[in-house]
Amino acid sequence: MKDMEFRIKDTMEEIKAACFRAGREPGEVRLVVVSKNFNQQRIEEAYACGLRIFGENRVQELIEKIEVLPTDIEWHLIGTLQRNKVKYILGKVSLIHSVHSLSLAAEISKQSVMADLVTNILLQVNVSGEASKHGFCPQELLSQIKEICHMPGIKIKGLMTIAPMAEDSEEARPVFCELYHLAREIDRLGLSGVEMQELSMGMSDDFQVAVEEGATLLRIGSRIFGPRNYGDVV
Ligand SMILES: *Cc1c(COP(=O)(O)O)cnc(C)c1O
Repeated sequence: MKDMEFRIKDTMEEIKAACFRAGREPGEVRLVVVSKNFNQQRIEEAYACGLRIFGENRVQELIEKIEVLPTDIEWHLIGTLQRNKVKYILGKVSLIHSVHSLSLAAEISKQSVMADLVTNILLQVNVSGEASKHGFCPQELLSQIKEICHMPGIKIKGLMTIAPMAEDSEEARPVFCELYHLAREIDRLGLSGVEMQELSMGMSDDFQVAVEEGATLLRIGSRIFGPRNYGDVV
């Protein structure tokens, strides 16, 4: 078995085991393969192993890859999106994980209406409160989501967060747990245009904990591709 095939199999088994520990169905959890900085050939290798959802964090790199890779790939944008780049990706990505402000949501709404599209989004929440991270602050999310849910052309599918870097993945648990409870709280409001079905949380180093705390989308890169070489694009 090739290295990547082995790592994918191993990752899938760990996801299943974490589901089992949490009393969840493995079918509730989807893997978003984070392919940023990995070239076309590496992505084709992952594709050949059966993976179909890929996540990128830069618009330019995403667009270049969409053009050359198989059309049945489902692309997700997971990185910070600037308002002036929204128009380049609408209709090309099936989910934007990283909507971090009212003004970005408003731009996606406006551009989606102009293109006669409905764009699926997640709201990124800065649960840990780190200054280096983007995202809605948990205290403000409830009032802000009430504004976003009235915007035409977008559908809120859930929440996303990034846990702080830590030696021990247990440190991510309270962050994931808080995102889960925020989603349940929002769900109870029963807002139209809002479905809290997706929780995007967990990366290579903390995905098992994320599954235990209710993740439905795992964003995993290096665990599958191996170490990331930041010079190696497309
Ligand atoms: C790079 C990245 C990931 C994946 O990181 P790995 O450690 O390679 O699994 C997940 N989420 C976001 C937002 C990222 O930028």
